[in-house]
Amino acid sequence: MENELIKKGRELREKAKEDLAKALDQLGLDSFYATYLSKKGSLRGLLGNMKDVAPEERGETGSAINSFFREINDAYETRKKRLEEEKRQKKLESETIDISLPGRKPQTGFINPYHLIIDEVTDIFISMGYEVVEGRDVETDLYNFELLNVPKDHPSRDMQDTFYLNADKLLRTQTSAAQAHTMRERSSDPKPIRMICPGKAYRRDDDDQTHSHQFAQIEGLVVDKDISIANLKATLELFAKKMFGEKREIRLRSSYFPFTEPSVEVDVSCFACGGKGCSTCKGTGWIEILGAGMVNPKVLRDCGYDPEVWTGFAFGVGVERVAMLRYGIDDIRRFYSDDLRFLSDFTGK
Ligand SMILES: [Zn+2]
Repeated sequence: MENELIKKGRELREKAKEDLAKALDQLGLDSFYATYLSKKGSLRGLLGNMKDVAPEERGETGSAINSFFREINDAYETRKKRLEEEKRQKKLESETIDISLPGRKPQTGFINPYHLIIDEVTDIFISMGYEVVEGRDVETDLYNFELLNVPKDHPSRDMQDTFYLNADKLLRTQTSAAQAHTMRERSSDPKPIRMICPGKAYRRDDDDQTHSHQFAQIEGLVVDKDISIANLKATLELFAKKMFGEKREIRLRSSYFPFTEPSVEVDVSCFACGGKGCSTCKGTGWIEILGAGMVNPKVLRDCGYDPEVWTGFAFGVGVERVAMLRYGIDDIRRFYSDDLRFLSDFTGK
C-alpha cells in the first residue's frame, strides 16, 4: 500500500540519484547534502511528516522513507570518498618526482684557511691541558698596552697604531690583552693558568703583502710556580712537532718584547727542505714562527700575581703566517678578500 509520503520519497530518491551524479566536486557535494540529507534537507524532512500519516501506515511508511534515506546517504558517502580519492591521485601525479633528473648541488661555504689553522693549533694546546679564552676585540688602553708594560710613551706603540673608538678604547693590537684580563680576574685567589687566546687583532694597514689591517693571533700564557724557560722550550718544541712534523726542531733567538723578559724569537727547522736550505726558508734552514718569553715580573705584579711566588711564559703565533707557510699562500690580504676561487682551495683536508 503506497501512500503519498512514500511516493514523494521515491521521487526524491530518483531525483537525488540524478543530482548526485552531477556533483563533481566538494562544492557540489556540499550543496547536495544540504538539499537532501541535512536536517533541513528534503529527504530527511520527510521523516518529520510522519505525524500526518495514518497510524496504521506509519510502520511501513517509516521503514520505506528510512530505506530511501539510507540508500541516498550511502551513495553520497561513496561518491564523496571517490572524489577525495581522485583528488589525492591528481595531487600525487602532479607532485611526482623524477628521480632520473640529475640533482642540484647546494652551494656550501668554505672554511677560511686561517680558521683551519686556529682549529689545529687550538686542538694541540687543548690536548696539553690548556683552556681557551675568547678575549675582546675592543679593548681599553689599560689592557692592550699599560698592563703589558707598554706605557704611553713607549716606542713600540708606533708599530701598533690601531683604530681608536675614543681616547681610551681601541681595537686590540694583540690578543695578549686577554692574558691581562685572565690574570686580573683570578688575582684575588691566584691559581696556576694555562690558557690560549685565539682571535683577531688590528693594526694600521701598511698595505703590502705581509700586512693587513686585520690578522689573527694565538696567544698563550702559562703561570705557575717554578716555571722556567726550559718549560717554554719544551712546550713550543712539542707544538712545532705536532704542527709541522715529528722531525722538526726549534731554536730560540734573543729578542725583545715589553711584556716578556727575557724574550725570544722561535724558529722551526724548515719543513720544506728539512733544514738544508730552500726558498721557503730563504736558504737558512729555519723559519721564524712565533715570539715568546718569560712573563715580565712587572706584568705579573700589575696583573695581581706576586712575581716572588709566580713565574710564567707567554707566546704568540701569527695565524696567517703559519697558514701562508703551510699552504704556500703568497699574500696575507687573500685571507680577507672573500675570493671564492681562493677559499674553495681549502676544503679542510
Ligand atoms: Zn727550507
